[in-house]
Amino acid sequence: MARPLVADIDLDALRHNYRLARELAPASQAVAVIKADAYGHGAVACARALEALPADSRPPAFAVACLEEAESLRRGGVKAPIVLLEGIFEASELERVDALGLWMAVHSEWQVAALLAYRPTRPIPVWLKVDSGMHRLGFSPEEAVTVWQRLAVASECAAALHLMSHFATADALDGQYFHQQMSRLRALAEHLGAPLCLANSPATLARPEAHGAWVRPGVMLYGSDPLEAPSEASRRLRPVMTLRSRIIAVQELAAGEPVGYAGRWRAPRPSRIGVVACGYGDGYDRHAVDGTPVLVAGQRVSLAGKVSMDMLTVDITELPEAGTGTEVVLWGNASNGEVLSVDEVARYCGAISYTLLTGVLPRVPRRYH
Ligand code: PLP
Repeated sequence: MARPLVADIDLDALRHNYRLARELAPASQAVAVIKADAYGHGAVACARALEALPADSRPPAFAVACLEEAESLRRGGVKAPIVLLEGIFEASELERVDALGLWMAVHSEWQVAALLAYRPTRPIPVWLKVDSGMHRLGFSPEEAVTVWQRLAVASECAAALHLMSHFATADALDGQYFHQQMSRLRALAEHLGAPLCLANSPATLARPEAHGAWVRPGVMLYGSDPLEAPSEASRRLRPVMTLRSRIIAVQELAAGEPVGYAGRWRAPRPSRIGVVACGYGDGYDRHAVDGTPVLVAGQRVSLAGKVSMDMLTVDITELPEAGTGTEVVLWGNASNGEVLSVDEVARYCGAISYTLLTGVLPRVPRRYH
């Protein structure tokens, strides 16, 4: 029998979450962010599942971080426009941007200069990136005015100009910094008469004032809730990935006996320990503490002991029916309908869902439904 660890990918849940994003921002278009191999879910499979939606509800575009990701989507048969969220990394990439029919963000002067010097086969759609407060990529609002005007007159190389920006704190409850970013952008967009693309998942879920011409959801498409406090809408998200394995051995321990590396967990009473085929060599976070929830036969039990490379251990003392072969869900949907969210697991790891999902390594087969 093959090693029983698999990442089950529920493409219906993906489509459901995408439709939810659209429902929340009905006046906006929604570009589906599928960078980092669709947050670990498999970018080609996810893009094709979304492209299979009826014409009026499928994503008009996808977004990735770099050219290589876009090329892999094109090789996989994805036809829709693809936005490069960081644009190009060197001027020579423009030829491939052009040949593959990509759109690109432009965040630096050298990219503007390269674009203006290039003669594409058709003008390249440009999303001008503004630094409204994240202080990562983009032009200041003042610089953006000049760059916008230079691009606007160069209609032979740049087309369909948009303004884009990224929020540092759209998920935070007090929202002060968010409102500061928002008011800078609104003033700039009004001045230029520019369509805006701002909203990541938290802003798509909870900040309708940021929806603009386009929303740009990522993690919510995969069913993770990025909000500090769940909302009515975010509770409707469905997990896309279920990381599923089985118990491969059981240990009967006397009170006081340790489990795993450094004996971090000690049996507080006579205990049964299930050994699960999943470890940090698969991407499960080794910072998971004792007590991290795991579903065994659809019931919550606790991680007991440090995560090893290929295995982890759970306390199944309270589940006498569990044994070798019993289903284990590290996050996602158990067969009995119980759900363990990746967000909750991430909290026990001092992590975020983004790192857990993108961290699932290639040796874990993805199984699409
Ligand atoms: N837009 C940009 C520029 C991003 O970098 C990201 C994610 O990192 C997103 C959109 C999607 O963000 P989220 O996954 O929080 O929806």
